[in-house]
Amino acid sequence: MKPIDAGCIYCGDTNFSREHGMLRCLGEFEGYEGLLDRVCAGCNNGFKKIDEQLCRSGREAFFREYLGIEGRKHHGKVNPFYRGSAGGKRIEVEAVSSEHGVPPIALELTDGTLRERRQITIIDGNGHRYQIPFQDKMTPEQFRAQFDSLGIKSIQNADVYCDDDEKEWIRTLLATLGSDVTFQRDDRQPSLARYDSALMTFEVTPLYIRAIAKIAFHCFLGFVPRFRGDEECFSEIRSFIQSEGSPSDWGRFVACERKIYGGTRPATWGHLVTAEIDYSRLTSRVQLFLGPLESEPYLFTVNLGRNPSRNDSGLKEIRFFEYFPQAERRGRIVGALKHGLGIRGLV
Ligand SMILES: [Zn+2]
Repeated sequence: MKPIDAGCIYCGDTNFSREHGMLRCLGEFEGYEGLLDRVCAGCNNGFKKIDEQLCRSGREAFFREYLGIEGRKHHGKVNPFYRGSAGGKRIEVEAVSSEHGVPPIALELTDGTLRERRQITIIDGNGHRYQIPFQDKMTPEQFRAQFDSLGIKSIQNADVYCDDDEKEWIRTLLATLGSDVTFQRDDRQPSLARYDSALMTFEVTPLYIRAIAKIAFHCFLGFVPRFRGDEECFSEIRSFIQSEGSPSDWGRFVACERKIYGGTRPATWGHLVTAEIDYSRLTSRVQLFLGPLESEPYLFTVNLGRNPSRNDSGLKEIRFFEYFPQAERRGRIVGALKHGLGIRGLV
């Protein structure tokens, strides 16, 4: 039996706060309450940066926008297509066309709709092509500094993409390029239909890997109540989640591969997390935003520690944090936790 006054699994403090396990910015799920008496308010607060990294600048940031997952209301809304977060880079989505003469173009996703990103594309005198996104509240000085950093010697042609009500502001930015730059209106229909596929790139940082490890560890503890999380076997994963260690360590804790867990895509969107115990190890797998679209999320395998009891093995719990269709969501409750066989279309 654990003593009743056992404290935070990271620091021993007893001022607990609810830990969401599945990150709160991914929504709350019926039938899952997270961890109530394992993580203190201080440690929880310290995890904010790694949570933010995953939710605002990874592939997850894209799917949060795509599926309309809002997360915590009072956090300032950051558009991940203009600005990265917590040290991560912004998401780049570029559409390409097989049609000759249609150049690749940067896209953004707003409320589930892809459109051309607010930007200027410039062809210089040598035919090289550059793109500068117009970030929110960009000043003329900031725009000019970005332009200068590209080393463009002469402009042959440029296209500006923006909404009508943004034109006056964009004009003040372009004025920094000189008085001979003119602005011509082009009333052609939006040209997204000309593109036939899109490529998304983003950068994965150590904070992202730690966020994955934290989801795996905390969900495991929620699914397998006989572990509290403060056991010696978890000491290394705890310290990795808290302080990350050196890059050479990451591979010891988190491995990833390009494959769909179980080989079949579920019919609905959600996050898959497992808790697995074999003879020697405690493991959890995490696959976020797994769904019907032809997008391949990484399947992460997180090594949580050595199994302290060889007699206790052969466990495999599969859970799916399944999103409701938009109309069925109720406030912060955006889905429900499904167990193994309850996952529609997966088994
Ligand atoms: Zn703590």
